[in-house]
Amino acid sequence: MLQNSSIFVVRMQDIRKISKDEIAVFCENSGEPKYRARQIYEWLWEKSAVSFDEMSNLPAAFRSVLAEEYSILPITTDLEQFSDDGTIKLRFKLHDEKMIEGVLIPADNRFTACVSSQVGCTLQCAFCATGLLKRERNLDAGEIYDQVVLLNKYCTEKYSRPLTNIVYMGMGEPLLNIDSVLESIDKITLSGLGMSPKRITVSTVGIARGISKLAERNVKFNLALSLHAATDEKRVKIMPINKGNNIDALVESLLQFYRATANKITFEYILFKDFNDQKEDANALIEICKKVPSFVNLIEYNKVEGLNFEKSTPEIRQRFVSYLENAGVTTKVRLSRGKDINAACGQLANKN
Ligand code: SF4
Repeated sequence: MLQNSSIFVVRMQDIRKISKDEIAVFCENSGEPKYRARQIYEWLWEKSAVSFDEMSNLPAAFRSVLAEEYSILPITTDLEQFSDDGTIKLRFKLHDEKMIEGVLIPADNRFTACVSSQVGCTLQCAFCATGLLKRERNLDAGEIYDQVVLLNKYCTEKYSRPLTNIVYMGMGEPLLNIDSVLESIDKITLSGLGMSPKRITVSTVGIARGISKLAERNVKFNLALSLHAATDEKRVKIMPINKGNNIDALVESLLQFYRATANKITFEYILFKDFNDQKEDANALIEICKKVPSFVNLIEYNKVEGLNFEKSTPEIRQRFVSYLENAGVTTKVRLSRGKDINAACGQLANKN
């Protein structure tokens, strides 16, 4: 589309980055009634229009005026992969040719979209394929929203039903792009997608001040913390972010989040063979769970080529589950999905 060509991107403002009030001023200055702003806003955020031509209840001449002044910069699906287990992984191309990923995970009567919040990532978690990419930029709210819209389309076409859940667990750290993440959640929950915030989970590697900010804003969605090791000594070896955000600081901010939202925290814990899967590791995790109202998701590691981590055996995993359950910790095991399609985060965007 002409409006998406690079020439126009440079000089035209992305209409999804301006407020409804600003759109209203433009409508008024163009001699259009004020209600046009509501119509445009609905087309953008409820009907997910990707061009002004689609806005059929606007006069054709005004659609041309809009197209001369503004752009819409939707993401597009660039590559799709279908796993035997039903998982669908999509690579999306952004207007500036950068690539991100989103995944649709059908499991246990849930249809979950996993979305990205940044192009690449700076945090360099030792086990993560995205950590091998350099961070290029944050996504804007529209680019996050579009991932949900496109994954919802695949869900409806393939499974004849809409998404049931959304997790911000794809490429990037959501709390390092907090404003766009919060705006995208507003749009997703208020829009035609009609998703309750209770069905949305933001997953962070642990940025204490970001978690406190969520608490202060009194958000309604759920929070997951990618813990993966329950002592500072071990955690810092695989997650450099722990240097400035140690476990005590995280516990404090998580308690603040819980007090503000009454939502229990989910601790994500990947079991790595011979690293964090022994009894003393479980005991350290149990101590954290005693402090923070929480659940634990034990995650099977999805091997990343070139990285020196292996998943724990099923026997060790089951033993670890028993340690937690015997201590009264609510625990779920999440087996790896999409093993046949490069499903570990960052693997597809990294592919030529
Ligand atoms: S796990 Fe998340 S925060 Fe860590 S490197 Fe990967 S994308 Fe970044």
